Amino acid sequence: MKKEDCIFCKLANGDIPTNTIYEDSDFRVFLDSSPATKGHCLIVPKEHFDNLEELSDDVASKVFPLARKMMKLLKEKLGWDGFNVVQNNGELAGQTVFHFHTHLIPRYEGDGASIAMSHTSPGEGELEKVLEQILS
Ligand code: AMP
Ligand code: ZN
Repeated sequence: MKKEDCIFCKLANGDIPTNTIYEDSDFRVFLDSSPATKGHCLIVPKEHFDNLEELSDDVASKVFPLARKMMKLLKEKLGWDGFNVVQNNGELAGQTVFHFHTHLIPRYEGDGASIAMSHTSPGEGELEKVLEQILS
C-alpha cells in the first residue's frame, strides 16, 4: 500500500521522476539527490513501510539479493574500490525519510566521504551484562 504524502511512495511508483538505474515489480533503485559519492543510490520498495521493523519478510528477503545485483552493476560501470550498504531507522539513527530505504554507496580511493562509526572500549564485565540482558 502507498501512503498519502509520502515522497518515496511517489518516487518509487514513478509518480515523480527519478534517476532510475533499476526497477522491478517490488522496487525502484534511483540515484540519491544529494549523493555521498558518485553512484550513491537508494533501494526503495514500491510499497510503503516506515522502516526495517515494519518491513514485510517477503520484501526484506529481496533487499540483499538486489543490493548485490546493484553492487555488481555499479562495479562494472563505475569501478568502485569499496562499498557501504547503509540503512537508517528512526530519527536518532539518522533517518530523514520515513519510508524504508537502503543506501548503496560506492567508495573510491580518496573520496573523502565519511560513514562514521566511533567505537567504545567496554569496561570489565559490561559485554557479559549486555549479553545477559539480551538472552534473558
Ligand atoms: P535517510 O537519511 O537514511 O532517511 O536517507 C534519505 C536520503 O534520501 C538522503 O540521502 C537524501 O539525500 C535522499 N533524498 C531525499 N529526497 C530525495 C529525492 N527527491 N530524490 C532522491 N533522493 C532523495
Ligand atoms: Zn512511502
